[in-house]
Amino acid sequence: MATTEKHAFQAEIAQLLEIVIHSLYTDKEIFVRELISNAADASEKLKFLQTSGTEIFQPDAPLTISVSTDDQAKTITFTDSGIGMTHGELIDNLGTIAHSGSKAFLEQLKASKADANLIGQFGVGFYSAFMAGEKVTVFTRSYQSGEQGWIWSSDGQTGYEIEPADDLPRGTKVVIQLRDTEFAQATRVEHVIRHYSSFVPFPIELNGKTVNTVQALWTKSKSEITDTEYEEFYKFVGHDSEPPKYRLHFSADAPLAIRALLFVPGKSFEHLSMTRGDSEVNLYCKKILIQPKAKALFPEWLRFLRGVVDSEDLPLNISRETMQDSALLRKLNEVLTKRVLKWLDEEAKGDPAKYDEFFAQHGHCLKEGVASDWSHREAIAKLLRFESSYTEKSKTTSLTDYVSRMPEEQKEIYYLLAPSRESAEASPYFEVFREKKFEVLYLSDPRDEFVMEHLREFDKKRVIAAEKADLKLDEKPNALSEEDARLVANFIKEQLTDRVDEVRVSKRLVGSPAVVVDSDPTMTASMRRVIKMMNREGTPDMQSKPNLEINPDHPIMVKMNSMRTADAALAGEVAAQIFDNALVAAGLMEDPRAMLTRLNSLLEKLLSPA
Ligand code: ADP
Ligand code: MG
Repeated sequence: MATTEKHAFQAEIAQLLEIVIHSLYTDKEIFVRELISNAADASEKLKFLQTSGTEIFQPDAPLTISVSTDDQAKTITFTDSGIGMTHGELIDNLGTIAHSGSKAFLEQLKASKADANLIGQFGVGFYSAFMAGEKVTVFTRSYQSGEQGWIWSSDGQTGYEIEPADDLPRGTKVVIQLRDTEFAQATRVEHVIRHYSSFVPFPIELNGKTVNTVQALWTKSKSEITDTEYEEFYKFVGHDSEPPKYRLHFSADAPLAIRALLFVPGKSFEHLSMTRGDSEVNLYCKKILIQPKAKALFPEWLRFLRGVVDSEDLPLNISRETMQDSALLRKLNEVLTKRVLKWLDEEAKGDPAKYDEFFAQHGHCLKEGVASDWSHREAIAKLLRFESSYTEKSKTTSLTDYVSRMPEEQKEIYYLLAPSRESAEASPYFEVFREKKFEVLYLSDPRDEFVMEHLREFDKKRVIAAEKADLKLDEKPNALSEEDARLVANFIKEQLTDRVDEVRVSKRLVGSPAVVVDSDPTMTASMRRVIKMMNREGTPDMQSKPNLEINPDHPIMVKMNSMRTADAALAGEVAAQIFDNALVAAGLMEDPRAMLTRLNSLLEKLLSPA
């Protein structure tokens, strides 16, 4: 009498299943794609073992994937002769979540923000079987001789059971007891298979009839491939239902023999999941899968790529473990990275508007590249796009174009971090640039500033924050004499000793009375903001005091000059208010309520008859 073991699902799986069963009503068909994809993965793994000379149970079983439907019994069955699973593997693979991204997916699903269609990208595709099925039974036998067969079954609710099975062939058979007959209809299923799985590199039979043409698309020449074929292939490798944004199909012979078919997805799923994705480019050697999702193929900042790289130069018997450090892989990585950078650059030039859409989705990866990959920094920087004082609202410029517009007397590249274009243009830091007609890049994400800090230079020109620019307006007589301006500065400094470091007479202000400038040359106001945010509960504020620059041409400063002797108390209050206003303009004001008492007292004075 066979013994049946009962197991509970890991908590996360139970939650996932709860949602899959009760709340996902659209895109149900994707379960067909996911189960075929698993069968294909298992077959690819077997093919790899064959080439590496491992001993395999039933070595001659053909690597075909068969699907059969039975509308009387309301079942659909997926059978493969891939590597199968041992008892331990069944528990590990079909009862626990191994991938960290899956938990994030779960969170998103709960908040119903995630697209169920993406389930495969999160490494939990198997469970989509429960979208259409009320019971799933898995018959499986590992390729390892000496292993017996097992039957795993579950209703997706009360856990799963495992019992031994006699005499199973190698591989896996998944039988789904469907809730209704939709996916027990051959025509319906054939449609889904053709849609998502045409490029599975193994024959797929539906009720005994082959429905796909097996082809390694990347080995064919471009002229033999239609756009539709490319697109279907992408949907298969990218687990996506939308067409890709870009595709690159190229081959090279030197320095390495490479055939690659790469895609950029239309949407970044990192935005959806708030987690980092993994590269999903599969590495082949002469059409044999050497490593799925081969991390070493590309630097991490190109992790948005999907597709296939095939290189004949790889030794077939390369072990998956030593892959990571192989010199050959490093070389491959180098060649591919250069090629991809060139490709993106061409796409950007060819259709700037389309590139902007790409950049909105995947630009954060490129920025990460600028900050982390010294060896490709300049080339990646060419691919960055920013709004600027030159571009129209929500249009962007490249650094290259920025440089080409620089007037001769401009030596550096400037950027200004501000929450919006409007606030950048109203910023006191921008005044000198407007006067001099120097272009300023507008950064809207605080992280962008760190990217610029890392970039430091582009085309041999320093890249610096607008507030750090050593720029002066053209010399002209000011409303205040040099001497008076200095006296006003000294007066303000006395009033604010505790809060400012230096008070200087500014040469860059036009319309604002004053501006704060960080006293630390390596800091900017926005970096202060970020640091403050991170240090919320940290040690007492170690922050140094900022400098204040005053505008010797501004009416307030002119009046301050007479007021500091006529009514020093009032002038002192005004000085404090000017400083607070400058902090607000720099986005450094922490609690504006503190200044309200003073502001009210000033208003009162303003309203009382002289
Ligand atoms: P993923 O395929 O992304 O790993 P799934 O949820 O689709 O995630 O599958 C989980 C795991 O279950 C797979 O990684 C694999 O180890 C195992 N598995 C699923 N289907 C099969 C199969 N047909 N043959 C062998 N192993 C399988
Ligand atoms: Mg899968």
